[in-house]
Formats: sequence, C-alpha cells, structure tokens
Amino acid sequence: MPTSWFEKSNAAQLLGEGYLAFTVEHGPERERYQGIVEIDGRTLEQCAHHYFQQSVQCDAVLKLGVSLSEDKTWRTGGIMIQRLPRKESMPPNAKIDEVWKQRRDLVRKMEPSTLHGSCISPFTVLFELFNRDNIRVYEAKKLCAKCNCSYERVELVLAALPNEEVESWKVNGKIVVTYEFCNIQTIFREDDLTELRDRGKLE
Ligand SMILES: [Zn+2]
Repeated sequence: MPTSWFEKSNAAQLLGEGYLAFTVEHGPERERYQGIVEIDGRTLEQCAHHYFQQSVQCDAVLKLGVSLSEDKTWRTGGIMIQRLPRKESMPPNAKIDEVWKQRRDLVRKMEPSTLHGSCISPFTVLFELFNRDNIRVYEAKKLCAKCNCSYERVELVLAALPNEEVESWKVNGKIVVTYEFCNIQTIFREDDLTELRDRGKLE
C-alpha cells in the first residue's frame, strides 16, 4: 500500500458504507456494552470524537499516529484523555475547566510521530505532557486482538438443528456462518454438515 495513497484516503473511502462500533467489556459479571455511530469524519480520530460526543456525551480527545516503515511494517500508537463527569454535589469550577482545556490542547497539538516512534516510551510521552499534574502511572497492560467467537459453539448449534432447518439455511449446498463481531466467515460444506449430524446422533 503506497504511503501517498494512504495519506490521501479518508475514513469513508477506506471503511466503505460501514459503521463504527465501540464495544466495552467490564469483565464476566457485567453485560458488554456496544455503542454504534455512523462513519462521520475524514479520519478514524474524527469518527471516534463523533462517537464520544454522540454516544458517551463526554469530553474526550483521541490522537493517533500511524506510519509505514521502510521495511513495510506498520506502526501505530495513540493517546486518549477523557474528562470525567463532575459529581452533582460539586459546583462548576472554572479552574478545572481551564486545566482541562489546556491539557486537551496539548494532546491535540501532539506530533503524531511522537506516538508511533519506537524510541519514545509511553511514560516519557505522559511525562512531557502532564509533568505539572503529579501524574500516577499504572502498570501497563498488554493489548492483544482477539474475540470470543467460538467455532465449537456454532458446530453444536448446527448439529442440534432439525434437518429441515439446516436445509433451509443452505445456499448452493453450503452454509456460510459469519461471526458478526470479527467478520470472519466459516463455510460448512455438505460433508462437514453430514459429519456434524452423525456426531450429534452419537452424543
Ligand atoms: Zn470473532
């Protein structure tokens, strides 16, 4: 993907007629929450701001930096700050408003390259931005891309369905299951389905 093409593209061109969904999981005890907004903005950053204004209705700033290195490796980094809602019992405080605006502008003006550069640690970035604020840095959490979609669960459902229903789902002799969360598809062909049904009968 040539960099010039990437730089000229906007979010709508890259993402098509989709929507932007933010899924928040609070752990196994609580229901997961999903907020959906249309793709509105030239960049992913602007789309995210649109989401925060529309769905969360809180002040937040997100800054992202992306680069394609000479060895064709993508690097990305980001920072998000969010203003926590004021407690109802607390009166409006002009000083806090002012501090928020200053910190928000600092993040807005950041050079995106600061965020994806390999030689600057996140701690240094935070210190440079907020050293006046007595910041506290929590232990870093590793990020990984994964979802909870289960191939086995789909197999169990298909094995338990009555034959007529399985037949009604077939298109050109096969069933295509789309995992809506990650948009991965699994194709079950005639012999996969027969095997599933035979296995279902044995269990
Ligand atoms: Zn998935």
